[in-house]
Amino acid sequence: MAKAFDVIVIGGGPAGYVAAIRCAQLGMNTAVVDEFVYKDGEPSLGGTCLNVGCIPSKALLDSSEQYHKVSHQLEAHGIKAKEVELDVKAMIARKDRVVKDLTGGIAQLFKANKVEWLKGHGRLLEGKQVEVSPTSGKGKAQVYQAEYVIIATGSKPIDIDAAPLDGDKIVNSDGALEFTEVPKRLGIIGAGVIGLEMGSVWSRLGSKVTLLEAQDTFLPPVDPRVAKTAQKEFERQGLDIRFGARVTNAKAAKNVTVHYEDKDGKQSMQVDKLIVCVGRRPNTSNLFSEDSNLLLDERGLVNVDEHCRTNLPGVFAIGDVVRGPMLAHKGSEEGIMVAELIAGKPGHMNYDTVPWVIYTHPEIAWVGRTEAQLKSAGVPFTSGTFNFAATGRARAMEEKAGMVKIIAHAETDRILGVHMVGPQASELIAEAVVAMEFHASSEDLGRIIHAHPTLSEAMHEAALSVSKRAIHKAN
Ligand code: FAD
Ligand code: AMP
Repeated sequence: MAKAFDVIVIGGGPAGYVAAIRCAQLGMNTAVVDEFVYKDGEPSLGGTCLNVGCIPSKALLDSSEQYHKVSHQLEAHGIKAKEVELDVKAMIARKDRVVKDLTGGIAQLFKANKVEWLKGHGRLLEGKQVEVSPTSGKGKAQVYQAEYVIIATGSKPIDIDAAPLDGDKIVNSDGALEFTEVPKRLGIIGAGVIGLEMGSVWSRLGSKVTLLEAQDTFLPPVDPRVAKTAQKEFERQGLDIRFGARVTNAKAAKNVTVHYEDKDGKQSMQVDKLIVCVGRRPNTSNLFSEDSNLLLDERGLVNVDEHCRTNLPGVFAIGDVVRGPMLAHKGSEEGIMVAELIAGKPGHMNYDTVPWVIYTHPEIAWVGRTEAQLKSAGVPFTSGTFNFAATGRARAMEEKAGMVKIIAHAETDRILGVHMVGPQASELIAEAVVAMEFHASSEDLGRIIHAHPTLSEAMHEAALSVSKRAIHKAN
């Protein structure tokens, strides 16, 4: 008889491990199948996010920001730092320690919540059975029976034929977190979220960074004024972003030669390293047997409804492997919703208030609708903006670049979207999410007391500016 669980989660990333812990909290006998093996050869929970995504990238973004501050920004504060030394290996080792601490923490949480960790590759079989094969390929596969299955297998980087990875000079985002020295010239294919974050890390440490972006617009999903402000700042920092540039071929020899085409025809450039950051695709390979009859959608994602139910009764799917933004917190929240639905509770997920953050400097963050989306939906709106330069705190911090925009319904004043670029936007956006969850109006935000001097005053003033009564600006 196959060992049975109430719930088997396939995938131990931020969607899967959060779902499993919530299931266990709700009294279900839960197991997580995960196949991830960290670069030291050890199985590791936390998925892309903890091992090769959100956490290591933020660790390096923070380290590189400290280095850049000491080397270039402290003089404005009257501090002269001479002979600043960079130890890239130590920086990478610190990043690895942060990853290890956090992934080890998930294993501890599993123990505390009695979630069983089944190490290996999971495959859904007919009748909610899950086959687990050892990652090494050696040894026998085991089959387990579940009452409910949650698929949370995440995503992996998209490879392109034009730039095949060689694991050394041409790498994807995983490899970009492992450089042991600063490449003199760094090329990046794709000026999206991950490309910009990786470009920021290595540019701050001294690389000459060129990003080749196939589209003509910078960050199409972002509010155009926010995107324009950010682009100006990034270019001022030295990022060379080339638009309408489609890479046709890249080859590594002593250096990497990259051929691309833009509006002026065929171009080429030489770089020391090339990072391919052209997006991610769902992990569905060998995920289910044919007779399980699991349905994928036209983009290869597991097909789900608004409650993350697949076409198979008792089988759910969450996180990057299903539709919606590929963001860790979106997957985690779906995990909680599904766990609560399984327990017979009213699980719910508000896709309208998923915040987005790009951890460049300045940071970009937004939640809700853009003006373009509202226009095409025929929703009447009005907006207010406020520049960080007009707040005392941003000036005191020498962080003057950026602004906040609040978009509200023209008749009801309900906040429909908040968009910002500026210092600590990743933290400031939380206020906007809370306001939108509580259906706040711009007047509500304008009447709430914000501490002085803080960066949050830019939110306050942007809210006041919707009704043309910001104090520290000519409305
Ligand atoms: P994953 O984290 O991909 O986890 C899936 C897990 O399932 C993995 O461990 C995988 O090995 C395992 N698995 C897959 N198939 C099987 C199988 N058949 N059997 C067993 N195990 C399997 N998002 C943010 O919100 N904020 C950020 O700042 C951010 N930064 C990022 C930076 C980088 C460089 C990258 C690459 C991504 C970043 N992301 C960020 C995206 C974020 O990492 C993903 O959205 C998130 O990890 C998705 O979570 P998930 O649980 O759905 O999948
Ligand atoms: P994201 O979706 O945020 O991960 O960003 C990926 C980016 O890569 C998008 O802006 C794409 O337009 C871009 N991209 C995809 N393929 C290519 C290519 N062959 N050359 C240049 N840019 C590309």
